[in-house]
Amino acid sequence: MAGGRFIFLGPPGAGKGTQAVRLAKDLAIPHISTGEILRSAVRDGTELGTAAKGYMDRGELVPDEVVAGVVADRLTSDDCEAGYLLDGFPRTLAQARALEQRTGGNVGQVVYFELSEDEVVERLTGRRTCPSCGRNFHVKYLKPQTEGKCDTCGAALIQRSDDTEATVLERLRVYREQTGDLVGYYEERNLLTTVSAAGAPNDVYATLKTAIAKE
Ligand code: AMP
Repeated sequence: MAGGRFIFLGPPGAGKGTQAVRLAKDLAIPHISTGEILRSAVRDGTELGTAAKGYMDRGELVPDEVVAGVVADRLTSDDCEAGYLLDGFPRTLAQARALEQRTGGNVGQVVYFELSEDEVVERLTGRRTCPSCGRNFHVKYLKPQTEGKCDTCGAALIQRSDDTEATVLERLRVYREQTGDLVGYYEERNLLTTVSAAGAPNDVYATLKTAIAKE
């Protein structure tokens, strides 16, 4: 199986990014993470980054028109002809509707990664990220081979500024209030596949592959 359109939905910390990197590679489709695009804009100090930074640091959502514009631009690239894997978009009903318009109603398959709030907090506050290649580790569950260093590129790992406990709790509140409704929205449209995000990344990936093959 190659190509296809996928949307990854679920709370922050459910492992969407980790699973997305792998599936996108397997299916030879671009992995489009709005969080990554925004973080890279913040790092580069672009106009988009300046507009987004305050929202991100507070754990709030960047305004719909800004994010929808970023995604609409990205989807015009040639590499999206085979499909796409959207990770972290849409996050509001307005974004879901914008995507529907952009794709002529053919948004693809929506995978919902389900995880309890307690587990989200534990995963995110213990997460350490490579600022150079984006790979994630965990202080307890996914330790790097050398403490504090990325296994892939050797860069010093950091804690994302929005992975502190106060911001994680805010991100969860925002998820519950603004993104949670999308689960029902896509369920009603028969586009939703639910995957348990509890467990080790390899096990979740196996469940994911089985679940999307059934659709
Ligand atoms: P993520 O890496 O997906 O957890 O995203 C990190 C942060 O980027 C979020 O907390 C938001 O501030 C912002 N962000 C990412 N995707 C979106 C989106 N679809 N809509 C609004 N804000 C977003």
